[in-house]
Amino acid sequence: MFNHRFDEIEKQTKGIVFNIEHFHVHDGEGIRTNVFLKGCSLHCPWCCNPESIHPVPQIAQYQKLCTGCGKCVEVCPEHCCIQKEDGNVITDFSQCCACGKCASVCPAGARELFGKRMSVSEVIAEVEKDSVYFINSDGGLTLSGGEACLQPEFARELIRAAHRRYIPAALETAGAVEWERLWQAAKEADEILMDLKTTDSLQFEKIGRFSLDTVMENMCKLAEAGKNITLRCPIIPNFNDNEGHIQKVAETARRVGVNRIDFLPFHQLGKHKYAAIGKNYQMTDYPEMKDTIMEKMAECLRKEGFHVSIGG
Ligand code: SF4
Ligand code: SF4
Ligand code: SF4
Repeated sequence: MFNHRFDEIEKQTKGIVFNIEHFHVHDGEGIRTNVFLKGCSLHCPWCCNPESIHPVPQIAQYQKLCTGCGKCVEVCPEHCCIQKEDGNVITDFSQCCACGKCASVCPAGARELFGKRMSVSEVIAEVEKDSVYFINSDGGLTLSGGEACLQPEFARELIRAAHRRYIPAALETAGAVEWERLWQAAKEADEILMDLKTTDSLQFEKIGRFSLDTVMENMCKLAEAGKNITLRCPIIPNFNDNEGHIQKVAETARRVGVNRIDFLPFHQLGKHKYAAIGKNYQMTDYPEMKDTIMEKMAECLRKEGFHVSIGG
């Protein structure tokens, strides 16, 4: 179908993907197929994809599903699947080399390997299955993460491969990355979904090594380059669920010339994955955002002329 050069680039350019999800409707225009790239420069405690943060593959064990059959113990080359005296099997994550052998023999689905090295051609073949939905809904591919810009060459080649198949491509980014990497990934994207986690510099410092100034500079540069940007704002209880933040979001959007804002209400859906990968979840006691409060915030900005959606 394509010339030999593109074929080779698509086969040879590889990245680490931890999920491909079909039929998303909140991550760009129309029906989307989301490709999640592994690795993130932030560590938001509310993250519903904690498996996205570490840049390389990692194993998860869902304790509730484990029957204690011991098959993983038999195959683990690092001896980090450990059967205790009471029969329970646990994982020593510090010794795991993420070979995935345990997941392939587990009969209970209690183990999962997050992250797989895939070529552009492998990913795009999966995305292309949804072409008919893209055509009928103006949808397309959305690159997400993690932070997709940490694998900028792979992201760029995925976008190019999508375009060669007449599939529009959106890029989601938190902007907490060097401009050169961001631009390499974003230059050819049709739409940018740009996260604005907080408008408070001190709050931002607590979730990553980049400053909020870097994010804002990157956002301005994308806008100056004429990119079509939607602001994505997680609304987190006791963090940024206040009127001051909402007004600063509006100020930022005005300054950058963005009209579309998505509010992403905090939820607990990713909670179970923390223990599965050996991490602590810090948000157990935080309530989920009420629909009425989200609607009130959205209405506030709609009155100021913004197009505001809730979801994601
Ligand atoms: S991924 Fe490999 S090293 Fe890690 S727990 Fe499973 S079998 Fe052991
Ligand atoms: S193979 Fe699966 S079900 Fe069996 S002990 Fe290991 S994790 Fe548990
Ligand atoms: S930027 Fe997104 S993927 Fe990264 S830690 Fe925050 S919520 Fe998770």
